Amino acid sequence: MPLKPFDIPQAHHLIGGAWIRGKATIQVTDPSVGAPLTTIARGNAEDIDAAVIAAQAAREGEWGRMAALERGRILTRIGQMVLEQVETLAKLEARDVGKPLKQARADAVALARYMEFYGGAADKIHGETIPYLDGYTVYTLREPHGVTGHIIPWNYPMQIIGRSVGAALAMGNACVLKPAEDACLTALAFAQIAMEAGLPAGALSVVTGLGSEAGAALAAHPGVQHISFTGSVRTGEAIQAAAATNVIPVTLELGGKSPQIVFDDADLDRALPFLINAGIQNAGQTCSASSRILVQRRIYDEVRDRMAAAYGELKVGPAMEDLDVGPLISAKQKEIVTGFLEKGADLTIAAQGQIVTDAAGHYVPPTLFANVPPDHILAQDEIFDPVQAIIPFEDEAEAIRIANGTDYGLVAAIWTRDGGRQMRLAKALKSGQVFINNYGAGGGVELPFGGVGKSGHGREKGFEALYGFSTLKTVAAWHG
Ligand code: ADP
Repeated sequence: MPLKPFDIPQAHHLIGGAWIRGKATIQVTDPSVGAPLTTIARGNAEDIDAAVIAAQAAREGEWGRMAALERGRILTRIGQMVLEQVETLAKLEARDVGKPLKQARADAVALARYMEFYGGAADKIHGETIPYLDGYTVYTLREPHGVTGHIIPWNYPMQIIGRSVGAALAMGNACVLKPAEDACLTALAFAQIAMEAGLPAGALSVVTGLGSEAGAALAAHPGVQHISFTGSVRTGEAIQAAAATNVIPVTLELGGKSPQIVFDDADLDRALPFLINAGIQNAGQTCSASSRILVQRRIYDEVRDRMAAAYGELKVGPAMEDLDVGPLISAKQKEIVTGFLEKGADLTIAAQGQIVTDAAGHYVPPTLFANVPPDHILAQDEIFDPVQAIIPFEDEAEAIRIANGTDYGLVAAIWTRDGGRQMRLAKALKSGQVFINNYGAGGGVELPFGGVGKSGHGREKGFEALYGFSTLKTVAAWHG
């Protein structure tokens, strides 16, 4: 049965395989028009408790006993069903978070791809035997943590569900997902698809609600053995502190101020679309957005002018019109961003995109700042909007100093034809990922992803995530 956009019971949680009506609700707004869209359930500690108990039961029941091969088959089936629903999921996401349709479509396809990848990987990760003393056989068992909590943000709900829930399920964990209050609809749709694909009850529960209520209850729940969080540094700190009270591991992915470094021998025709798209994709509301463009002095004017020309063509409008840039997620986010832009009043604006709608959505013009001092607040703080700062540099040493000169370290790109320089910078940059002559904001299901410094710790995506969502048991047998 094809899923229709609002078939999913609104204002419900999915707990232990059943849709449970929320005792309270939250109004959700369509960011493209600033008007009410629907309501979601406002979950509390009691709902989280019920979801954790359902997850524990799933671990002790069919899900916990299921062979890795069968888990993989279910994930693969979920992936196929997501692919059949790409249009529906994309429209749902576009309305809910204001993402232009083509970006929402790409997210739905990525969600399917995560399920395929982790479906295939589920039975391909294993322990090893270890040579030890005479008379012993020693081996390791890779086991699920048990119940994993997933607290995710509003910017890429489908992709982040894919990378965290997908990998956790592949390892046999039972997941409790708390989506962001501004972006719950595709999480609920995904849970329904997963149920239809045969995922046993309780293997995935979704509790919607506020961070300070449902989120905080999940992070601190003593029945949870691992927390995966993507979001702001401030909330990441709170979640790590809550998890510490239960002494459980956390994976934190907290954003960045990711640089692209353009040397004077770079292939500019290839680089330009990457330089710009990495900044404006999803209205800049991307942890791995590239908000700093470092350009070697000799080609500085040319890069600034070519980027400015492209910025002048950018069109901003409602998600369903599928333009270059949609609205920001909320009025609150627009207020934060506008405050930041005012702090750039002393800077030169090289170019801005155009808002081409009268709709009362949360729109801001994409803005390119030129000649930004590396220590300026716009070159230091994550802003989460379609704003990029161009920063000139003289030589390799200065480029490294500027690139590494923030609290963050998530993604970096190097644009140069010089092979030695590519290798030197790849080692010198303080960053979880380094791209050479390309940039992969959010992309690459197969590529381990995560940060250093205030960008967080732990790795998701690729096979690496499977290690993070499992624990290792060493078995030492003496047999004489
Ligand atoms: P933003 O400030 O942009 O909303 P957050 O990092 O606060 O970003 O939100 C990311 C996710 O964390 C959301 O699902 C949100 O509900 C949740 N969250 C917010 N505060 C807390 C908290 N104190 N404990 C647990 N989760 C939280």
